[in-house]
Amino acid sequence: MYCPFCRAVDTKVIDSRLVSDGHQVRRRRECLACHERYTTFETAELVMPRIIKNDGSREPFNEDKMRNGLVRALEKRPVSVEQVELSINKVKSKLRATGEREVSSELLGNIIMEQLKELDKVAYVRFASVYRSFEDIREFSEEIARLGNEK
Ligand SMILES: [Zn+2]
Repeated sequence: MYCPFCRAVDTKVIDSRLVSDGHQVRRRRECLACHERYTTFETAELVMPRIIKNDGSREPFNEDKMRNGLVRALEKRPVSVEQVELSINKVKSKLRATGEREVSSELLGNIIMEQLKELDKVAYVRFASVYRSFEDIREFSEEIARLGNEK
């Protein structure tokens, strides 16, 4: 790839390591022309099922959208970026493991919620309250009570 600083073609890899539990390779590169250093991430591209939305329309699985949702739910929570990436990978593995070409947005939401539940209970409740748009306050209280019982 071109150097993002000077667009030279020749770069050398100065460090390479596995991250995100081995799902990604992180490479530190140095441009041979301008000597600037930068990082690239390499991930295997695997086909994800398409998402069937509530109105019946289909859309491609959008990892950034999912990441934004998680990050919003995890705001000010003691969870590292690495843990978030790990959860995202788990969600993707589970989606692929369904073997389906299309899955409902509801199923996707449930898989994400399972992950959040393991990661951080507060974030889980935040996400669930937005995602499921709890019908009434009682349902929401029940969900919180259930979390309390699980401890
Ligand atoms: Zn350069």
